[in-house]
Amino acid sequence: MMPASAALVTGASRGIGRACALRLAKEGFAVAVNYRQGTAQAGAVVQEITDAGGTAFALPGDVAVPGEADRLVHEVTEKFGRIDVLVNNAGITRDTLVLRMSDDDFDAVLATNLAGAFRLIRAALKPMLRQRYGRIINISSIAGMVGNPGQANYSAAKAGMLGLTRAVAKEVASRNITVNAVAPGLIDTDMSSDIKGREALVASIPLGRAGTPEEVAAAVAFLARQEAAYITGVTLPVDGGLTAG
Ligand code: NAP
Repeated sequence: MMPASAALVTGASRGIGRACALRLAKEGFAVAVNYRQGTAQAGAVVQEITDAGGTAFALPGDVAVPGEADRLVHEVTEKFGRIDVLVNNAGITRDTLVLRMSDDDFDAVLATNLAGAFRLIRAALKPMLRQRYGRIINISSIAGMVGNPGQANYSAAKAGMLGLTRAVAKEVASRNITVNAVAPGLIDTDMSSDIKGREALVASIPLGRAGTPEEVAAAVAFLARQEAAYITGVTLPVDGGLTAG
């Protein structure tokens, strides 16, 4: 039987993507759990969802590779018959000061974090336009709002996602498709585990702590709901107040 609603979460084997997959499954979505390398971890996410009575499958694929986006979306619509929610979460860092940053450091981060999101949006919009329904949620970062030293590549990619979000939101608004960004601050995952100056950063967060992947997933789940229909083109910081005011 085809599910009533289906979601594709990129980079869902670990961290924030994993939390989004689990949360969306809990909300009743059939979930495609995309990942690049973590076959066992993605399998564990699928197992956790199916053990709880949900529907999910693991979907390997590198979002940085042109052509993969079309295949990934095709596999989701083949399996689930539709795609209602796309969460562009897959992301990498290659941190170094700009003077030392290689072309490869820059290109790799832009290819995964920005071009990957663009191609998945383009691919997912085709079935969403046919359905006249869709929710696209791009996981940006406060780095894209304020810029982080040592992360020129990452900050550029994440700022690019915000422009991408606003432009596409306006293009597809009349078709009942919303496009929004979530901008996490410091969230406890593998990506942030060796962050420099962590203590000082935590001290500057009004809520006085790092966030959890589940707290980001809660914001994503809200924007994924039908009732979030009148919210599009926005960036929702989930940052403990770091960028407030
Ligand atoms: P993470 O723990 O490093 O997990 C990254 C996930 O992305 C993994 O599942 C990884 O899969 C997947 N991935 C990486 N490159 C991929 C590719 N080319 N194709 C498909 N999947 C790929 O990261 P995270 O902290 O959860 O971050 C998730 C998102 O939130 C990222 O976009 C990140 O920039 C953003 N964010 C994180 C924080 C933070 O503090 N953690 C703050 C702001 C924004 P494999 O393991 O299989 O490679």
